[in-house]
Amino acid sequence: MINNLFEELKQLEEELITIRRDLHMHPELSNEEKRTPAFIADHLKSLGLEVRTNFGGNGVVGYLRGEQPGKTIALRADFDALPIQDEKNVPYKSTVPGVAHACGHDVHTAALLGVARVLSSRKSTLAGTVVFIHQFAEEVAPGGAKRMIADGCLEGVDAVYGAHVWSENQIGEVLFNEGYTMAAADTFEITISGRGGHGAMPHLAIDPVVAASQLVMSLQQIVSRNVDPLKAAVVTVGSLHSGHALNVIPDSASVGGTVRTYDPAIRELAEKKIRDAVKAVEIHTGVKGSIDYVYGHTSLYNHAEPTRQLKQLAEQYLPEVYVKKMNAFMGAEDFAYYLEEVPGTFFFVGGRNEELDAVYPHHHPKFDVDEKAISTIGRLFFLSLLNHGVVSAE
Ligand code: MN
Repeated sequence: MINNLFEELKQLEEELITIRRDLHMHPELSNEEKRTPAFIADHLKSLGLEVRTNFGGNGVVGYLRGEQPGKTIALRADFDALPIQDEKNVPYKSTVPGVAHACGHDVHTAALLGVARVLSSRKSTLAGTVVFIHQFAEEVAPGGAKRMIADGCLEGVDAVYGAHVWSENQIGEVLFNEGYTMAAADTFEITISGRGGHGAMPHLAIDPVVAASQLVMSLQQIVSRNVDPLKAAVVTVGSLHSGHALNVIPDSASVGGTVRTYDPAIRELAEKKIRDAVKAVEIHTGVKGSIDYVYGHTSLYNHAEPTRQLKQLAEQYLPEVYVKKMNAFMGAEDFAYYLEEVPGTFFFVGGRNEELDAVYPHHHPKFDVDEKAISTIGRLFFLSLLNHGVVSAE
């Protein structure tokens, strides 16, 4: 059966590329998705799936219930785009000024629609249920995953699989990693209030510039002096603002940044140490600090068993691909929330191709991928179902 599924998907390749290009030309920002979920819902309904729209917000969930007993497996594709001007020179470039599918979510969506299409005519042999999770708003916190889970998209689900096309890796490569793979991404904005004054009379002022500078430097010690060297964390100050005039001590300063961690205990430690650092600067300099600390996506942990099994199936059934280990990194992805609820794995599919100028990093204005990645993702989704016996090998 699995090879027939691959073959049918292959025959749909042109059509899926057309779908991807249509989505690519009509990207929608996170939480503002309308056309995309409507398109997905229409497509799934036309295949005879049971479809729920407005799932947790703008999400769409399709259910394909096989006629044979078996597991319930969820496959997830996200579909939001980014506030980036598309600077590619291709016929399918974005038609929406300032908005682009610069992360490949259009590719994920096309792949999952292809899987639904191929499976929809096989209900009689399907053993179990396939839940097609089409998720909105991946790019922002709190993100769509949390809201779709709260609305019940994982009810009765035994395992969940998600894919990301990856422009850092060549087309033909597929990548797996067990354990922590992507980071929790939190942000902080600290306002430091002092008392302004004449630049020549600092003793009459409370200088927020010096206090902010001191704070930036002490934040650099959080990871280097507090975090176990064998555990990963990043504290980056990406925003530092104060003052205008060269001879004036301003009233206030602001310091903002991002905190990336894997381990929840390290995540809490980083927050506590940032709060402590602000208190220390207050005592030392006399400023008042206020902190707006926001928890973003949680860290993504790939479960050992499904990761190993899917990797092994890829090696066995996809001789044309090169199976590699994905290196964990500190980017964030809200697929993490599904993996907090049920076992599963998030895998990566190379999309880089120099000949197509698909060489730019994710979120770059010229980002693009080799569209052959669509059917590779689709094949891996089929193997995810094979892993739980929903589809059969023979
Ligand atoms: Mn993405």
